[in-house]
Amino acid sequence: MNLLEGKIALITGGSRGIGEALVRGFAAQGARVAFTYVSAGSAARAQALATELGENVRAYQSDAGDYAQAEALVSDVVKDFGGLNILINNAGITRDTLMLRMTEQQWDEVIQTNLKSVFNLTKHGLKPMLRGGGSIINMSSVVGVFGQAGQANYAASKAGIIGFSKSIAKEYGSRGIRCNAVAPGFIATEMTDALDEKTKEGYLSAIPMKRFGTGDDVANACIYLASDMGAYVSGQVISVCGALNC
Ligand code: NDP
Repeated sequence: MNLLEGKIALITGGSRGIGEALVRGFAAQGARVAFTYVSAGSAARAQALATELGENVRAYQSDAGDYAQAEALVSDVVKDFGGLNILINNAGITRDTLMLRMTEQQWDEVIQTNLKSVFNLTKHGLKPMLRGGGSIINMSSVVGVFGQAGQANYAASKAGIIGFSKSIAKEYGSRGIRCNAVAPGFIATEMTDALDEKTKEGYLSAIPMKRFGTGDDVANACIYLASDMGAYVSGQVISVCGALNC
């Protein structure tokens, strides 16, 4: 299918995990895709992904939490591709620990990468979308809706994304710009591989569908929201969680 034919998408954090599935899924649906990574160690992998998917996909090194880099990125993407129709704020990190042990640095890093990045990219990404409308999708988490012990910083960043997304949907709905949040449950990626086996078993037993999600499960929901199939859907939080915490 070509649900995204003719659309230009910018996806942050596309070098691995859910972001890589988004890049592959959006390219398969006919979108032209710009995606980012931040670590020098991911450069070869990101470049290999772009090369594999062909001339309609390009990788950019850019720190989503840095305001000036986000501005330069959007400007480069608009110059390279000729516009912007879809923005997916997917980049995210965890610095999990109990509140009594959490350092100011662990709080600041998570808020900067997960929440300030959404402000940075939306602020600059909105302008090219004002010309022809667009779809913004922000990667939240079920943890942002329900909370999670040991993740107060992460949960706060993901809850902030929900309030932000609903506000942007109301502010720019009249300009043809939709904004939604996606709240994945437990998706098997390098981020969740880092958890210990006992924690993973605990999650699995709590998931009614009895499996972890895949990057494709999340990408498919995003394709719906980005495409004209989701033309009247805005300001919503779509959970992709196998009925966990519903
Ligand atoms: P991964 O750790 O597998 O991948 C993270 C991606 O984000 C990488 O591409 C990484 O780039 C990029 N990234 C990290 N920091 C920055 C930054 N400052 N600027 C630009 N890119 C950055 O994560 P997941 O795929 O698991 O998660 C993706 C999103 O989904 C996150 O927002 C996460 O919070 C959310 N999520 C994940 C869940 C899960 O179960 N996995 C559940 C709920 C939500 P690089 O390769 O250069 O490090």
